[in-house]
Amino acid sequence: MQNPATLNLIAWFKQHARRLPWRQNPSVYKTVVSEFMLQQTQIKTMLPYFERWMQEFPSFQALAQAPLTSVLAVWSGLGYYTRAKHLHAFAQTFIHRPVTTYAELLTCPGIGPYTAAAIASIAFNEPVMTIDGNVIRVLARLLNHSEVFTSQATARTWVQPYLQRYFDQTHPGVFNEALMECGATVCTKTHPVCSQCPLRVDCQAFQLHTQSTCPQFLKAKELQKQKHRLWHLNANALLLAPSTIATRTSVTLLELPELSPDQRTQLPELQPIFTGKRRIGNTTYTETLYSLPPSVALPTKLIHQWKAQWLPIKALNQYPLSGPHKRWIQAILTSLS
Ligand code: SF4
Repeated sequence: MQNPATLNLIAWFKQHARRLPWRQNPSVYKTVVSEFMLQQTQIKTMLPYFERWMQEFPSFQALAQAPLTSVLAVWSGLGYYTRAKHLHAFAQTFIHRPVTTYAELLTCPGIGPYTAAAIASIAFNEPVMTIDGNVIRVLARLLNHSEVFTSQATARTWVQPYLQRYFDQTHPGVFNEALMECGATVCTKTHPVCSQCPLRVDCQAFQLHTQSTCPQFLKAKELQKQKHRLWHLNANALLLAPSTIATRTSVTLLELPELSPDQRTQLPELQPIFTGKRRIGNTTYTETLYSLPPSVALPTKLIHQWKAQWLPIKALNQYPLSGPHKRWIQAILTSLS
């Protein structure tokens, strides 16, 4: 027999689910695109990209036939470009051999356990559970879990058997979406709205007033790093080099060349023109951009060391720049115009 809390949750979802574009006239294609875009990106950020994507590539067929450069251009600005490459490759596979099960989805590049479970359950009704940060938070509060999780991975392992108590085998996709929606909109990290929660009667944290301290995660040590970069504009072309910061993406992103301490000593005429901050994982980078006076020539050997190239500023949109550098370059170009 169905858990009464599950019935409450699903009834609540049917009434209160946000009207997201992939929930209107849902399709396998919309589910797949939304799940790829939502990896490492929040809904409000990806929404305009999703709308534009659907206009440009309305089906697996249209996406599979599009050149990768057009796909990357439409994705540009959303970050983690490997996702766009994987989604493109997925469409090319799917039109010849539809991939419809959790196990098959897991074999596709760019699809990990969470995305495979979301697509398999929402698009193909396979009874697999999706476990994200929202699900972990809701379950930890329902059970008033007081121990500190050492990582997301340990939290995911912990949550699995408890989630089984609530999981709806008959409507797995609706259940998964409902639980994640409850975590995203009601049982939020800092302001859970317990008065509107469909799981309130089952919730120990609510009864014990421990919502604000549950769940707890071991905090990663915060790091601060400095970087120095060269801004060199020559005849409307900007010098850019492969990024030197390791990220999770396998696409090599372009950034302004990084100046080592030695290189800065070789170029005493450098003048700071801009400072920006970016965050990767638990590290905050403060990056200072320097320009050279027009009278000073940039040594060719430095350009080779950086593997840098001159790219026309009018065509920068066609290249995979990192998000922060794209914004900073735009800001500097605007201030110069
Ligand atoms: S009752 Fe409150 S703390 Fe418990 S699951 Fe609902 S929103 Fe979260």
